[in-house]
Amino acid sequence: MQNKTLIHPLPTEVRPQLIDSFGRVHNYLRISLTERCNLRCFYCMPEEGIPLRDKAHFMNHEEVFGIAKIFNQLGVSKIRLTGGEPLIKKGAKDIIANLAKLDTELAITTNGILVDQFIDVIKDNGIKSVNISLDSLVAQRQEMISRRNYFDRIFKNINLLIDEGFNVKINVVVMNNVNDTELVDFVELTKDKSVQIRFIEFMPFNGNKWSWSKGVGFQKMMNAINYHFGEEKVIPLVGNPNDTAKCFTVENYKGSFGIISSISNPFCGTCNRIRLTADGKMKNCLFSSGETDLLTAYRNGEDLIPLIKHSIGTKKAERAGLDTIEKLNTSSLNTKNRSMISIGG
Ligand code: SAM
Ligand code: SF4
Repeated sequence: MQNKTLIHPLPTEVRPQLIDSFGRVHNYLRISLTERCNLRCFYCMPEEGIPLRDKAHFMNHEEVFGIAKIFNQLGVSKIRLTGGEPLIKKGAKDIIANLAKLDTELAITTNGILVDQFIDVIKDNGIKSVNISLDSLVAQRQEMISRRNYFDRIFKNINLLIDEGFNVKINVVVMNNVNDTELVDFVELTKDKSVQIRFIEFMPFNGNKWSWSKGVGFQKMMNAINYHFGEEKVIPLVGNPNDTAKCFTVENYKGSFGIISSISNPFCGTCNRIRLTADGKMKNCLFSSGETDLLTAYRNGEDLIPLIKHSIGTKKAERAGLDTIEKLNTSSLNTKNRSMISIGG
């Protein structure tokens, strides 16, 4: 790792905290670097794409850093870069190197295509946790889901990260009659590989034609896995308080698997997450259509702190008020939010 000068805003013990009206401390910021992508996963990006906007609408390198620094001063201790595909953002290498100077843990979620070109940047800047999306172990099916043929490259890069000793998680969005027959195959990957598979319940966003009938819930996934391995061999793991996944390992397997059950069993009670979109809007919940425009305020030289605190203060208890499957299934409610590609998962 390179020598780096850390920017310490204040000692941790006296740093302010972003606490919402339910007492949840928000110390984890997910920054979307771009809403563009080199894949077109159908659950994330609408078939017709999203309208392309001029680059002036999006945060530049200095703005990403400047806004991140303010969150860091407000107690954010972990930043995850996401997108769109974060590694296609122009200047991504410099952005990563600069954010690494903040007194935060830095992590990244990527589709993996460009990981080999970024491996030194990832290593040199102290990133230890890399999440990669891969929805099928069958190349043709992965191509059908992502509308592009990059399976071999992604798989090679997953192995590269594992060999380099990174903490690697593979994100799999599980959908009925799409990839739900592959749960056991994915868990089998953890037999010899030190990797965590994270099965994610399919979530509604604008343009992804969501209905819960297309999703696979926690219990159904567990039933299939327990049935194959034997319930006594599937061992629950103790997680951290803010974990989104409930995790398990199969007896004597090297890796583990987890299920992110945002729909069937939301984990909002321990939510510590804030999102910043590539166009500089803060979202206090992934499911919220409400946004706070930090970029315009930043460009106008305004103080962002009251805006950030107000947004946190108005965060709802559960899924931005979409607290039942009925509400989620109501298209007038579930299409109000942006497409996932322009939020940053
Ligand atoms: N391009 C990067 C990637 O694919 O990992 C980062 C951005 S992507 C939006 C972040 C995560 O959101 C991915 O793991 C993806 O599988 C997940 N995601 C996207 N749309 C989703 C949906 N409708 N339901 C559940 N997860 C979704
Ligand atoms: Fe791109 Fe990631 Fe969305 Fe797939 S999930 S379209 S890789 S941003």
